[in-house]
Amino acid sequence: MDFSKPEKLASLSPFELKDALMQTAGKHAERSMLNAGRGNPNFLATTPRHGFFQLGLFAMAESEQSYRYMEDIGGFPRRAGIEARFEIFTKANAGVAGIHFIEAAVSYVRDQLGLSAGDFLYEMCEAILGCNYPVPDRMLRLSEHIVAQYVHKEMIGTHPFVGKFDMYAVEGGTAAMTYLFNSLRENHLIEAGDTIALGMPIFTPYIEIPKLNDYQLLEIFIDASAENNWQYTKAELDKLLDPKVKAFFLVNPSNPPSVKINQETLEYIAAIVKKRPDLIILTDDVYATFADNFVSLFALCPHNTILVYSFSKYFGATGWRMGVIATHEHNIIDEKIAKLPEHQRLELDARYCSITTEPRALKFIDRLVADSRTVALNHTAGVSTPVQAQMTLFALFSLMDEPQKYKQSMKRIVLRRKEALYRELGLPMPYDANSVRYYHLLDMETLAAQMYDADFAQWLVQQLKPNEALFRLADETGVILLPGRGFGTPHASARVSLANLNEYDYANIGRSLRQLAAEYHDLYLAGRASVVPITDAPE
Ligand SMILES: *Cc1c(COP(=O)(O)O)cnc(C)c1O
Repeated sequence: MDFSKPEKLASLSPFELKDALMQTAGKHAERSMLNAGRGNPNFLATTPRHGFFQLGLFAMAESEQSYRYMEDIGGFPRRAGIEARFEIFTKANAGVAGIHFIEAAVSYVRDQLGLSAGDFLYEMCEAILGCNYPVPDRMLRLSEHIVAQYVHKEMIGTHPFVGKFDMYAVEGGTAAMTYLFNSLRENHLIEAGDTIALGMPIFTPYIEIPKLNDYQLLEIFIDASAENNWQYTKAELDKLLDPKVKAFFLVNPSNPPSVKINQETLEYIAAIVKKRPDLIILTDDVYATFADNFVSLFALCPHNTILVYSFSKYFGATGWRMGVIATHEHNIIDEKIAKLPEHQRLELDARYCSITTEPRALKFIDRLVADSRTVALNHTAGVSTPVQAQMTLFALFSLMDEPQKYKQSMKRIVLRRKEALYRELGLPMPYDANSVRYYHLLDMETLAAQMYDADFAQWLVQQLKPNEALFRLADETGVILLPGRGFGTPHASARVSLANLNEYDYANIGRSLRQLAAEYHDLYLAGRASVVPITDAPE
């Protein structure tokens, strides 16, 4: 890409603009870059990974029981006697990292979840060895059950919830979004020219995908503003009462403000859904696990809501490509498909007739699986089985962690980083009980007013060209932040990821921002109408 023409950068997503910022920051080889642009965490969960590798060794021993007379060749694990062999294996390896975890996990599965330990071990071994196509293709049987328990604990909690939900294991939140947009369209639930509502600000792909030629959807925005502590106001939510709004897509806790929807607002949305029983909701709860006592819209409006969850952020597992989609066993999406006009139902019968003799009974979630592999490859659909094994171990790790030690550590890591940032900014850290602090939005005007005064703040926002401050920051200090505007924030702001650098780096970022503000303030005092342009700041 050509970054030398800054005026061309205006249309880039914040994630692509980051590359231009990195190029600017990288021009100074003598100093290191502080890239707080990416959401990729720099921490990861170790215990369930140790567990994965130990179970892997056990699975290898299982496999090598067969074909003993041939080198380099093993067979499938054997179901009979697998529990006893597992006990011998764990006894022989007692004290090795991960062994205690997998012993505890097997016991938890048997004693707390009431599942067969042998079936579980067999499913895990077969999954880790990756010696069969994923069957069922939507998700392995016990893995689905266990991951559902985890989703229930983290996203529904103690909220009343009647009935079961189905899950589809996917290649991260990314695949979840791609598959959902596609199947919603293929099943005539959203069509070109339809209107969808987006809870703003939002993870940018939710803004970009509907505009693609593939979808041609119209977007309306349900704004959460800084003034309202990043909660949607009732007036904004009332836009959902308009029957032309087919679906409401939101991220909760939000990205980038990192704030979870409060109880009052959740209840207001649920009340709207009572008046709009046909409204489809897609809630992306990727950051839910960074909150205590999180309650998803999936808990309040289970029949209307599609839940998206990813293991990427909380377990530091972006490279695994690991996520799930959940829908309630009784949901309005299936009802809407059943009520489509006959000519569309006939069209869908034809689409899915190769995979079932009763295409009309095919649930939306199973249509997602089929559509993900262009229907004809439905029999080889599904996420790779080793991924499902690690996903199941992540879920068990959280389920077994009664004191929520891991969650408290996650929360502490990002809190310390935010504290370091504000300490060096020289400002009191804003406190919000609903903040999960994975990201933080720095509002330029607010910061300038707090550091100096309201006059300067006004002057600054009028002076700044889009992204100018971000490019200057990258150029002068090597710090990379993303523009909040790209995520749909109304004011000039910067997104700091609190997940991907160390505490002292955030202190440096705070210092750099303070220095930049001081430079602008000097210019302001000097009464100069225009700031000194740097060579490659975008217009
Ligand atoms: C990071 C992120 C995703 C993508 O997650 P992957 O599982 O890594 O594909 C989806 N939604 C939101 C809101 C995110 O922040």
